Amino acid sequence: MRVTWTGGELTFRLGAEDEITGHASDGHPVKLATNSCVISGAPADAHPDLFAVAAWTVVAPWTRRRITFDRAISAEVAAALHDGWGVEAGPVGAEPRPDGARLAISYSGGADSVAAASVYPEAPFVHFRRVPHRRVPNRWPHYRSDVLAKLARRTGRELTIVESDLEYTLAEPRPGYPEHHAVAAGALLLADRLDLGGLGFGYEMGSRWLGGGRYLHRYTPDNDLWAPHGRWGRLFASAGMHIVLPVGGVSEAVTMRLALGSDLKEHVRWCLRGTDGPCRECGKCLYKELIQAAVERRPLDTPITADRAPARKWFKPPPYGGQEMIEYGLARVPGIEHTLFAKTLEYFDVSEESTGWLDHCYPPAIDEIPAAWRDQAAAFMAAKVGFMTDDERRRVETWGS
Ligand SMILES: [Zn+2]
Repeated sequence: MRVTWTGGELTFRLGAEDEITGHASDGHPVKLATNSCVISGAPADAHPDLFAVAAWTVVAPWTRRRITFDRAISAEVAAALHDGWGVEAGPVGAEPRPDGARLAISYSGGADSVAAASVYPEAPFVHFRRVPHRRVPNRWPHYRSDVLAKLARRTGRELTIVESDLEYTLAEPRPGYPEHHAVAAGALLLADRLDLGGLGFGYEMGSRWLGGGRYLHRYTPDNDLWAPHGRWGRLFASAGMHIVLPVGGVSEAVTMRLALGSDLKEHVRWCLRGTDGPCRECGKCLYKELIQAAVERRPLDTPITADRAPARKWFKPPPYGGQEMIEYGLARVPGIEHTLFAKTLEYFDVSEESTGWLDHCYPPAIDEIPAAWRDQAAAFMAAKVGFMTDDERRRVETWGS
């Protein structure tokens, strides 16, 4: 793999041993569509390690054995690529990038992201905005990235919007991030300019500790995507940009409650199909409605009926992605037995007590936040959420077993 940056344009050429079908770090198979993309606002003098790690978030799935950058990287980044992926990276010759002083939030506008932002009210936002690729037809016109950008601007926070077409480098399963970490490509390139030493993501306990929703259903302390000691965590840290999960210790029920109780609540948006608010018709809206109804302790309010596609997955037996939240909702939503979740209910024996651990914070998630930002998260969780008891911690650590 050979990588070239021209301003904010990333071009990459596959080597003989590389392949256009690969796997993202979450195991998802992906296929390459095109070998270039643009990231707006990239300063030409950004540290070479930042260019390298930003490029890696796009080219990792296609790279087998070696990668050659167009400028020398530090030995630290080369070692992180070698240890994490078995890839020979070079040329080596730059001084490592020192950690910046500030934490930014990678702001998507979803409930988890808003909750993460509420932990650090002074943190600037970096918002990734998808724009069309000049050579790839846009088959995703219903996705309203302009709506999100507008909402992000209204939050009143210091905000940098990064525009990029990098999602169109993916042909299959559809346009999207080649790696989940590609959402951070713009923030990485801006890290020197914004003096960033950490980037906060809205990944919650399910993604960090319970197997990442869609793909696994087991306790994952060594999560390769989001643990600080996982390969991505070590790579980001080697470029002086730590991965921080402010809400990594709490469930989506808690992030929903925090988001709806925060001063950013008017700007929460988890579905981009609707033109004015969530569409209420898609699978994601149904899942989030179950959580919101549980948090607000009210009956389910959805136009989706049992014969519709988004309802069908809940007739099949578990495991499900986000199963902990399904259990939480089934135990709490009044009248759930008269909704499209009636069948799902038969698969579980849940109660408020058996799902109460999902209302508290898992302490190891705070321990792994870098020292510079740890106390603030700990104080926030103590005041707004409360920590798990030892019994509740065991619920996390035996999840899926
Ligand atoms: Zn929707």
